[in-house]
Amino acid sequence: MSRPARVRILPAALRHNLARARELAPGCPVWAVVKADAYGHGIAAALAGFAQADGLALVEFDRALSLRQAGWQRPLLMLEGAFSPDDVGHAAQARLSLVVHQPDQLRWLASLPSGAGLEVFVKLNTGMNRLGFPPAALPEALAALRSLPGIGRVHAMTHFANADRPGGADAPLARFQAALPDPAIGVSLANSAAIFDVPAARRGWLRPGIMLYGASPFADRPAITLGLRPAMRFESRLIAVQSLSPGDAVGYGGGFVASAAMRIGVVATGYADGYPRHAPTGTPVAVSGVRTRVVGRVSMDMLTVDLSSLPQARPGDPVELWGEQVPVDEVAAHAGTIGYELLCAIAPRVTRLIED
Ligand SMILES: *Cc1c(COP(=O)(O)O)cnc(C)c1O
Repeated sequence: MSRPARVRILPAALRHNLARARELAPGCPVWAVVKADAYGHGIAAALAGFAQADGLALVEFDRALSLRQAGWQRPLLMLEGAFSPDDVGHAAQARLSLVVHQPDQLRWLASLPSGAGLEVFVKLNTGMNRLGFPPAALPEALAALRSLPGIGRVHAMTHFANADRPGGADAPLARFQAALPDPAIGVSLANSAAIFDVPAARRGWLRPGIMLYGASPFADRPAITLGLRPAMRFESRLIAVQSLSPGDAVGYGGGFVASAAMRIGVVATGYADGYPRHAPTGTPVAVSGVRTRVVGRVSMDMLTVDLSSLPQARPGDPVELWGEQVPVDEVAAHAGTIGYELLCAIAPRVTRLIED
């Protein structure tokens, strides 16, 4: 008997969401961002869902090599670039494209043999102050790259810290634009939020991540209103039902106390499966297709739900932790985090099934 906590991935939803990105920015090539095991959806599902992407972008070199072994022939972009001089050799061998964001990485590229043709995205820091050269350093970086024998196409890129807020990309975009010495240089600008909200960033290579998985890049706009479909359903089953009398407490710490007689269900999913321990009483959950709420503290292997509106509920009934009935972003908001973190946190012990 396998434990009923599982995750179902819907490649059809991944395909739909990729088409949605293309619809918003027609004609732009797309890097489907698949870092963190495709935001927790698994590389196999990503290959099935993103067969039509122009390239895949990630940060893990071992995963990039696995993607090549699995037959992905199109471009692969390493979003943090090389971590050591050796990575440059790996990149050339596996035909990976590299972000270059700091001077050491530029120096490492000098080892490439002539004709290697390695594609480079020079990253500019336009205000996020995480990765990238100061915009004014772009001409010097481009000149350094042109002097190297093993470099192919060179693009310029940046990443926005605030594309999810109105006007939040204006100043970074202006800084980026002012730094471009040659208006014909290829660029890459837009994450999911910018694809939706920053028309001026819809050019060159797009870099959608979260939207492809059917979650929202915005705190206040549900994914469904953005035309996205959730690609992950996190599900389990009830394994017990308890009848409480007024005053009875539930779970560790007894944080929830029944004010009237009620029934609760025990779900075989806890924080060791990737369900957030910080989800408080009131976090939405669906039992047999009916939305109800988590009650009491989430424990390692179990959580408890209110069955007041489900008089027929019994052990074995299906539970959706998140998916179509319960958007992951709603669970995240209750738990004080974002959908991104919950999707990435599905634990290895949870069975992952790919539908289709
Ligand atoms: C993760 C990442 C993205 C994707 O961001 P989303 O908000 O998930 O769309 C794009 N660009 C870079 C550089 C990233 O690291």
